Amino acid sequence: MNDIEPRDFIRKIIYDDLESGKHAEIVTRFPPEPNGYLHVGHVMAICLDFGVAAETGGRTFLRLDDTNPGKESPEFVEAIKDDVHWLGFDWEDRLTHASDYFDRLYESAIQLVEQGVAYVDSLSAEEIREHRGTLTESGRNSPYRDRSVEENLDLFRRMYAGEFGDGEHVLRAKIDMASPNMNMRDPAIYRIRHIPHQNAGDKWCIYPMYDYAHGMSDAYEGITHSLCTLEFEDHRPLYDWFLDQLQPEHRPRQIEFSRLNLAYTITSKRKLKALVDEGVVSGWNDPRMPTISGMRRRGYPPAALREFVKRAGVTKKDKLIEMGALETCVRDVLGETAPRRMAVLRPLKIVLTNYPEGQVELMEAMNHPGNPDFGTRELPFSRELWIEQDDFMEDAPRKFFRLKPGGEVRLRFGYIIRCDEAIKNDDGEVVELRCSYDPDTRSGTGTSDRKVKGTIHWASCAHAVDASVRLYDRLFTDANPNAAEDFHKVLNPGSLEIVAAKLEPSLASVDEAVQFERLGYFCRDSADDTVSTHVFNRIVTLRDSWAKLEKQAMQQQG
Ligand code: ATP
Ligand code: MG
Repeated sequence: MNDIEPRDFIRKIIYDDLESGKHAEIVTRFPPEPNGYLHVGHVMAICLDFGVAAETGGRTFLRLDDTNPGKESPEFVEAIKDDVHWLGFDWEDRLTHASDYFDRLYESAIQLVEQGVAYVDSLSAEEIREHRGTLTESGRNSPYRDRSVEENLDLFRRMYAGEFGDGEHVLRAKIDMASPNMNMRDPAIYRIRHIPHQNAGDKWCIYPMYDYAHGMSDAYEGITHSLCTLEFEDHRPLYDWFLDQLQPEHRPRQIEFSRLNLAYTITSKRKLKALVDEGVVSGWNDPRMPTISGMRRRGYPPAALREFVKRAGVTKKDKLIEMGALETCVRDVLGETAPRRMAVLRPLKIVLTNYPEGQVELMEAMNHPGNPDFGTRELPFSRELWIEQDDFMEDAPRKFFRLKPGGEVRLRFGYIIRCDEAIKNDDGEVVELRCSYDPDTRSGTGTSDRKVKGTIHWASCAHAVDASVRLYDRLFTDANPNAAEDFHKVLNPGSLEIVAAKLEPSLASVDEAVQFERLGYFCRDSADDTVSTHVFNRIVTLRDSWAKLEKQAMQQQG
């Protein structure tokens, strides 16, 4: 039936279930709680849930797991939908909410009471905690544990009807207060909360607990494989217990895999929310955020994210993946798809003293050195140009092949020039270079076969477009800020640098990601760029500059 080799243990289980005929069709769900924006960890879950179903001709539900009113909002619901679509997945008509099942969940809870396996407890939250025991000590039964079915039914119905205040009663499963698994010590099924629900309105004042709502929603939807992260492993006996008691028509199977953690980032919605609420970042979609919306605004292509989680793989082992692995995927995709352009991030003016004033030549430039299909464009060249400040060095070492006093360099797609004089301001800083060009060396058509070692990029002063370019670095200085005692203490103060750049004219109207030659990949900022003010984001540098720095540090030591 399936001749593809499964690439992970979950696909193996799923393919086997199809092979053996246990299931004719695979049905999965991706169940985010709408209490924040989705992040890079969720990309892994989305690609797995939607991916395995799509590969086997199955179906996937996007289920908003909204059992916690107060923390959830329609803003988050919309963001989740946008993000899943943008990643390339489609739930078609299968958008559901745990709250869609509140009526059924209530009916099923009545059934548990009638079966004598659920009871209304009237201990306070504090007393319930005291009765629960510890990992080494068994719990104690609540004095209300042996209420009759009739009394429990009456109290539960009155909980539903709103006769009690928050915390006065709670519906609990009657399992085993001595279980070594704390989740099995009579866990709560329903609690009273007089608070309206963002999707269900004000109909309810009792809300089901996650463990109960989740497994039963899986059953109602006919989910075959309920894939979740490892922290739910200890909850699986409870997941199965509800199914055993209620015997729904479909019986889902929960399978756990390890969370994806990315070095130098946080993957907890709660902490990401704190960064937003405290104004540490500009919003959930700040391009430094590991949220899907942040990565989208940063310019990461969805294909790169899908490839990233595919390479990371689905396992049961804890993972802290290098940022470099994600950036490599981004470069791999953009290397093929992004046209090349020229831009100067930290401009230094040069004047070609022997170039006629007022003359403009149009230089032909390849749009992609590796792919002629991208075609060419014309770059205006004139007497006054911008080059990168660090492409000039006054006291340059012998091996510096860019511009230095008396030295020569080729301007990409232009001429070979020589630096004759550096002009300085009163502080001794170089503010302009006087250069001369060799008219016989025009790229492509020049008559001279003179060669120089260095080639640098440039922009014509009269034609360049001004832009504010945002250069991003890691948000944290610690490789594992998730584990930091206080993540505020490991924030990277240099995570955003803004430079006033000069762009070649064609960039005024570009709408795709491009490579600024020698600098990296960039795109227009979808939120702040306007017709009159150009704002670009650096998506990623050309090479892993961190790896290079580490290598240099090692060489210096060794
Ligand atoms: P957070 O702790 O950030 O709130 P969560 O797990 O509580 O994350 P949910 O909205 O409940 O967030 O997650 C939806 C689904 O995504 C769940 O099935 C969860 O297991 C999965 N998921 C969440 N974080 C990760 C991660 N880092 N790696 C892989 N899957 C994840
Ligand atoms: Mg969760």
